[in-house]
Amino acid sequence: MSEKFTVLIEQAEKEHQLPAEAIVTLLREPAAAEPLFAAADRVRQRYIGPQVELRGLIEFSNICKQNCMYCGLRRDNREVERYRLDAKTILEFGQRAAELGYKTLVLQSGEDDFFSSDRLSFVLTELKKLGVALTLSIGEKMREEYAALRAAGADRYLLRIETTDKELYEKLDPGMSWDNRVRCLHDLKELGFEVGTGSLVGLPGQSIESLAQDVLFFKQLDVDMVGIGPFIPNPDTPLAAATGGTFDLACRMMALTRLLLPEANIPATTAMETLQPNGRMLALQRGANVVMPNVTDTDYRKLYMLYPGKICLNDAPADCRSCVSEKIEAIGRTISQDQGFRRRRNPAVS
Ligand code: SAH
Ligand code: SF4
Repeated sequence: MSEKFTVLIEQAEKEHQLPAEAIVTLLREPAAAEPLFAAADRVRQRYIGPQVELRGLIEFSNICKQNCMYCGLRRDNREVERYRLDAKTILEFGQRAAELGYKTLVLQSGEDDFFSSDRLSFVLTELKKLGVALTLSIGEKMREEYAALRAAGADRYLLRIETTDKELYEKLDPGMSWDNRVRCLHDLKELGFEVGTGSLVGLPGQSIESLAQDVLFFKQLDVDMVGIGPFIPNPDTPLAAATGGTFDLACRMMALTRLLLPEANIPATTAMETLQPNGRMLALQRGANVVMPNVTDTDYRKLYMLYPGKICLNDAPADCRSCVSEKIEAIGRTISQDQGFRRRRNPAVS
C-alpha cells in the first residue's frame, strides 16, 4: 500500500499531473498525508522559494444579496449587524496598510449592489495611487462590470467555485447558477485579471471524488491563485448542525493543488487557523506561500463573520502585520518585498 501512494506522490512532484483516482487515494489514505505535505513543501521551495506574500485584507461591506447556506453574511441572517464602509474610510484603511508595508490589498465584501462599478472604480483609482496591486473578491458580476473594474486598476480577482459538484453548489447556493460562476471565471481570465478560485472542504454531501475534481478544475483553468478553506458551520445559518471540514483534509487539498499547479499563489487561509492553532504556519510548510492579514479596523472585524471563531478579532492592523511577520521568520521564511504576481518559471528549463 505504502508503495502505491509513494509512487503517486513522486509522479505528481515530477510531472505535476495526476489522474482523478490517484487524487482520491491521496485524499483518503491516512499514511499519505505527511509525504504529501513534504512533497508540496519541496515544490513550493523549488518554484516559489522561501518568500511569503502578505496581502492586506479590507472587509469593506458585510451586506450581501445572496443566500449561501454556509455563510454568516447570507441575506436571511438577521443576527448580523450590517455595515458598509464609505470610500473615505476604505482609502484610509488602504493608506494605513500601504504605510505598514503591504504591496497588495484585497478588497472583499458580500455581493453588495451599492458598490456599482462606478463607485468602486473611484476607490480603485485612488488606491492605485498608493502603488499597490489590487485584488477584488466581491462575487459575481456581468462581464462589462468586470471590464470596468479592470480598467480602473484591479489586477486580480478571487472567486471560489466552492465545489465543482454542480448539483451540490446549486443546493447550497440557492438562486445561483454554477455555470454562471464558471462564466465569471472565464470572463475574468479573458479580461486579463490574475484569477483565483478555490473550494470549501467538508461541505455536507461533498464527496472525496468531487474534491478530486476540484483540484483538476483548478489545473484545467490554469488559475493564478487557489484558496482552499475548511467549511466551518455557522450557528446563524441553515447548516448550523453540519459537521464541517477538517484541517487535515483542507491541507491535503492544498498540498495536492501545489503539486499540480507549482507556480500558483496559494494562501494559508484564516479558516485553517480557526480550526488549528498555528494552522497558517503549518499550511505554509505544506505548500502555501501567501498570508492575508486583516487590515480592517477592529470594530468591523467582528461584524464580518463568515464563520464562527474568526481569528485576531481584537488585533489592530499593525499588530497583525508584526505578529504574522515574526511567525513567518521563525519558520525560516522571508517576507516578499514585491507585489507578488504569479511567477511563471519552469525550473526544468531555467
Ligand atoms: N461574496 C464574495 C466574497 C466574500 S465570501 C463571494 O462569495 O465570492 C468569501 C468566501 O468565504 C467564500 O468564497 C466562501 O468560500 C467562504 N466562506 C463562507 N462561509 C464560510 C464558512 N462557513 N466556512 C468557511 N468559509 C466560508
Ligand atoms: Fe454572500 Fe459571499 Fe457569503 Fe455567499 S459566500 S452569502 S455571496 S458573502
